[in-house]
Amino acid sequence: MRLNVLITKEQLEKKTEEIADAITRDYNGKELVLVGVLKGGFIYLSDLARKIKMDVDIDFISVSSYGNSTESTGVVKIIKDVDTDVGGKHVLIVEDIIDTGLTLKYLKELFSTKGCASVKIAAILDKPERRKVDIKVDYPGIQIPDMFVVGYGLDYAGKYRNLPDVCVVEQT
Ligand code: 5GP
Repeated sequence: MRLNVLITKEQLEKKTEEIADAITRDYNGKELVLVGVLKGGFIYLSDLARKIKMDVDIDFISVSSYGNSTESTGVVKIIKDVDTDVGGKHVLIVEDIIDTGLTLKYLKELFSTKGCASVKIAAILDKPERRKVDIKVDYPGIQIPDMFVVGYGLDYAGKYRNLPDVCVVEQT
């Protein structure tokens, strides 16, 4: 198995900075809760949070992923919900990648039932060709082709989340 770099850490950092600036502008004076989607979203959330220039609350939600397979089952299960009372607050869901869109559509609907002032989405990577449901990413990241990627929070069978670049797995 070989790993080929698709998106460098410099590209990720530049995009994260642009998005953090937009978030700082848009939420100025509002109560914002960043909700990282575990496990994959933890690196993007930590980078993004440190570039946002205002006070934010941080929480995490954990949902079922593909397991050890590379294909979406379409089934989303909440493993851990947020602890924060998000009622009346602005929620920004921070995710590693939007693929079919099933996870984020489900999460957006879930937060809509919690009485938040607003619910928006930030995903650092996007595979638009794979979309199965119509869902708007409010803070879009970097578009990639229909390839299975690892690194920057994304795993293959639990490994490679700590790679600083986004890489394509090539079976050899
Ligand atoms: P969706 O529900 O949009 O199909 O998928 C979202 C989740 O699928 C992501 O949070 C991520 O865990 C996983 N996923 C989608 N594409 C990839 C990929 O290319 N690589 C990895 N490692 N996970 C992916």
